[in-house]
Amino acid sequence: MSKSAYKAQQKSYSPYSNFRVGCVLLLKNGTLVQGANIENASYGATICAERVAMCNKQIYFPGSQKEDDYEVTQVAIIGSSVDYITPCGICRQFLRESLSLTTLITLFNYDGTKYKVTSLEQLLPERQEGGGNSEGGDDGDDDDDEKFTPKVIDLYFTDQ
Ligand SMILES: [Zn+2]
Repeated sequence: MSKSAYKAQQKSYSPYSNFRVGCVLLLKNGTLVQGANIENASYGATICAERVAMCNKQIYFPGSQKEDDYEVTQVAIIGSSVDYITPCGICRQFLRESLSLTTLITLFNYDGTKYKVTSLEQLLPERQEGGGNSEGGDDGDDDDDEKFTPKVIDLYFTDQ
């Protein structure tokens, strides 16, 4: 994974910061999807390697994230820093749209000699949840919704 992330990093367009980042997603079917940071003269338009990889995955391997061969099973990110890189807040939330909380994410330093294996559960403990992942909202326990809805209806009719 570190070599693949390094190959992705070589595709970085980072003339302003010279901070090259590569990201690779390993899909369930063995496919590796690359991303690299792409900077812009308007700095705010810069996009991180993680989001480029996720967009590439969606374009080339669309579909359900958890129920097919395109499920992301591992992520590797490599930066240009002496210590291992950590994803920005936006990318953590972006990854959450498709990754399970326990998907392995390995963070590498510039030469792969320092790394940390982590997960979104650790990187994004109090996250915003949407409908894009199959684990549902809050704690992923769908029973809460089923128990809660009848109570609302009961209260509604009791007040009439
Ligand atoms: Zn980012």
